[in-house]
Amino acid sequence: MKLVDKYGRVLRDLRISITPRCNYHCVYCHPLGLETSDPPGTVTTGDVRHFLRAAAELGMEAVRFTGGEPLVRRELPEMIAAAAATPGVRDVAVTTNGSLFRRRHRELLDAGLRRVNISLDALDPEVFSRLTRGGDVARVWDAIELALELELHPVKLNAVVIGGVNDGEVVRLARLSVDRPLHVRFIEYMHLNNAPAAEYRRQFVPGAQTRARIEEQFGALAEVPTDPSSPARVWRIAGGQGTIGFINPVSEPFCANCTRLRLTSDRKIRPCLLTDLEFDIAPAFAAEDPVAALREALLFAAGRKPERGSTLPAMRERVMLRIGG
Ligand code: SAM
Repeated sequence: MKLVDKYGRVLRDLRISITPRCNYHCVYCHPLGLETSDPPGTVTTGDVRHFLRAAAELGMEAVRFTGGEPLVRRELPEMIAAAAATPGVRDVAVTTNGSLFRRRHRELLDAGLRRVNISLDALDPEVFSRLTRGGDVARVWDAIELALELELHPVKLNAVVIGGVNDGEVVRLARLSVDRPLHVRFIEYMHLNNAPAAEYRRQFVPGAQTRARIEEQFGALAEVPTDPSSPARVWRIAGGQGTIGFINPVSEPFCANCTRLRLTSDRKIRPCLLTDLEFDIAPAFAAEDPVAALREALLFAAGRKPERGSTLPAMRERVMLRIGG
């Protein structure tokens, strides 16, 4: 059985946010002062297990744990193990800021983790610290080197480009894909942090501009064929071991190919990142047969996945930290 929405999109990819807490405070992700502890009602390992069973029975096959910062959650290894053991799930990944990866990598690998996306918005320590409000780029770089050593291929690096803050870093970041099998993906800044609209507009950098800057330095990029459902268009610098991807949700929306659904850490299904629509499915987790109830909830939410989201600056009910990117 497949999870097909009203527009014929087959939903295969799940993002599960397991905590609203983060040890970094990236300016593009949320205003300060949001994170506390995981409130009552935050998804448990049992919830994740049931949800994955239901989702996999409906053909969802790829799972990515996110947050907040998923590595701050003690139960992450159990959750990874639950995903890896779910029949039908063929890809289990984590999106992380990398800061706790060295400390926790062994238990994550033992649980079945085979892939990580690490956020890296700058190599310059000051720029990195300004963007993350205090983060240490050396720790993140150490995590990236460890992920390469552990052969967690492909190691993808996510960089959100913010004009006047880290746009001067894009050439250095792109260069990382030359000598190592690193896959650097430049993401357009989405207005998901409730920043003042004028500031957002001033700081938004279209992916085409980022690409032009990179091509100015390295020459024309060669396109690498990708799965059409992937949000990234992927390219290679001549002779590069890795690749460069552009994820342009604002200037080149890819809603028609969107195959994703999100479960937020407070047990809501969010069918589209860029609309506020959410379905509270807490009662389904408490049902006598949670897997059957969650299957129904998934079918209900998938049937209401909006055709497209809005990238216009707007005050969101939830900022990215609380959605799970
Ligand atoms: N803490 C983890 C991390 O840093 O990767 C996982 C959560 S974070 C919300 C997931 C991804 O969302 C990161 O790659 C981050 O750069 C991206 N992200 C957050 N806010 C964004 C925004 N306003 N526009 C585009 N991407 C954003």
